[in-house]
Amino acid sequence: MGQDTRNRPERSQETEPSPTPDRERCALRVAVRTDQGRLRLRNEDAVLVDHERCVFAVADGMGGHPAGDVASRVAVEHLPALIASALGSPLDAVGATLPKAAPGDVDAALERALVELNDVILAEAAQDPDHVGMGTTVVLALFTGLTAHVAHVGDSRAYLFRPGELHQLTEDDSLANALIRGGVAPDDARHHPYAERLTQAVGTAGGIQPTVRGFELSAGDRLLLCSDGLTRMLVDARIGMILATEPDPEAASQALVDAANHAGGEDNISVVLIDVRDS
Ligand code: CA
Repeated sequence: MGQDTRNRPERSQETEPSPTPDRERCALRVAVRTDQGRLRLRNEDAVLVDHERCVFAVADGMGGHPAGDVASRVAVEHLPALIASALGSPLDAVGATLPKAAPGDVDAALERALVELNDVILAEAAQDPDHVGMGTTVVLALFTGLTAHVAHVGDSRAYLFRPGELHQLTEDDSLANALIRGGVAPDDARHHPYAERLTQAVGTAGGIQPTVRGFELSAGDRLLLCSDGLTRMLVDARIGMILATEPDPEAASQALVDAANHAGGEDNISVVLIDVRDS
């Protein structure tokens, strides 16, 4: 598997004249793909890859809603500034200053940033009758050293692949999961006619409750952020097999998209694959 030009910005970052020690610890190799799929007329997913601030995200504009592509794009455009503001850090210094913050402070800041993003989406929607009701999922990861702070709203997911095993880190904000938490048998909940309906998304008038958790990663781990266009087409075992057999993140992310398209490509497919390396 040959190197391609997409790796160049990463190399130039590594050769910055005087990187901060905290930046050096953020030794990540990131590959990203977003694909229309085979059936949808446009791609309503959006991705954020911000190496400088070690912030990565997938947003999935909700199908069947007006302006889903607008909502997901607004989300990824506003997230870096909202996160920096919630952390109280200057935008350029986020990556350098974050490790000094207590992990709980970072998690709380990410929650605040998503709650504020909800207000931003609602405000944008109010300005254009075509955008009323627009919404988007968000799954994001912010790295402080080797801690991945993972926040989400909706059914875009984060997975951890630790050689040999794939772990789903997020729990979909879906009706099925709400029923299961309420005591309904999992099999019954998953067969509910509206099992996959979202219980919240960014752009919800009544407010949102993001979920945020921190995970300690180590060299060799792979963190995958993805939209449901991947996870509805591929079972976890298939995703795990691709991650096990493709060590290069560019090749692995392309293989995930190709497999989802091969399985039908019924929805937009987005993946951000973050490999943690020895620094
Ligand atoms: Ca989708």
